[in-house]
Amino acid sequence: MIAFPKKDWLIKRYVEAYEFFLCPICSYPIRRGPLRYIFWNRRTIKKRLNASTGDPGQEEVYACPSCSTQLYEECSACGKVRHSLLPTCHSCGDTQTLDLGATAE
Ligand SMILES: [Zn+2]
Ligand SMILES: [Zn+2]
Repeated sequence: MIAFPKKDWLIKRYVEAYEFFLCPICSYPIRRGPLRYIFWNRRTIKKRLNASTGDPGQEEVYACPSCSTQLYEECSACGKVRHSLLPTCHSCGDTQTLDLGATAE
């Protein structure tokens, strides 16, 4: 038995959404840096990234303008920008307890 299948499933969904630069909650495009003025979906994002610099740009704090979910925030441990909906900071490895509501446990 997996301890928290729903939580694992949610985090996997979040990871996929972040990879496509789409809001994990409402799928609204995450427009940061050079992505600010282009349009994409899950099928075209790779081409779009290659066409631009391939660099998603300067990390910055970001909240989804559509559903108001905080998607990137400052890490309380190292001060760099981290994914708000993922458990581990990619800069320092600090882990946070995710608030996934009633589905968490
Ligand atoms: Zn959203
Ligand atoms: Zn950190």
